[in-house]
Amino acid sequence: MRLVVLGAPGAGKGTQSARLMQKYGIPQLSTGDMLRAAAVAGTPVGRQVKEIVDSGSLVPDEVVLKIIAERISRPDAARGFILDGFPRTVNQAEELDALLRVKDMKLDAVIELKVDESALLGRIEKRATETAARGCAARADDNPKAFRTRLAAYRKMTAPVSAYYARQGLLKTVDGMAPIDAVATQIDRAAESFVRI
Ligand code: AMP
Repeated sequence: MRLVVLGAPGAGKGTQSARLMQKYGIPQLSTGDMLRAAAVAGTPVGRQVKEIVDSGSLVPDEVVLKIIAERISRPDAARGFILDGFPRTVNQAEELDALLRVKDMKLDAVIELKVDESALLGRIEKRATETAARGCAARADDNPKAFRTRLAAYRKMTAPVSAYYARQGLLKTVDGMAPIDAVATQIDRAAESFVRI
């Protein structure tokens, strides 16, 4: 099963993708996690993107496309994967289609988590507080200033990705305002219509 999980910052993509990973035994491929890990490790890519990621802007398409091309070619992704935070631009979506085409693969579905914009900042601040309470460093972009940049990037660059997948008949929209378990149930219901692992 090959899935994309779409949604604004704070919509719950990471939470739901992690649950899908457990349920279906396929990897959750989060470009945000990969970029943050590269930044922490101080790799050339990490050094290149750290400031961009921390500010809430989008990393150039060619950087994320290279990372994703390498990642989906690994053996653990052969049975499927959940893309979390990718694609974030229509160009990325087109390039992903091209990448999959040469592997004779295609996406099964795209789950979009719809959340009221007024709830997003509160969710992100809650995540930062909870992370700090666990004694871990909060994400550098989980603050009001970077959040505004992230939301602007989402509206301008990522929202059109939903229409791109709707045209392909792949888009399933889910109410992301519901409690986590209820969102999960909606996703499972949507998944039942296409699961073929
Ligand atoms: P996320 O963890 O998905 O919220 O992503 C955190 C940050 O990583 C984003 O605000 C971007 O700076 C960067 N990023 C993650 N995925 C992408 C992507 N597909 N395209 C461009 N930038 C990305």
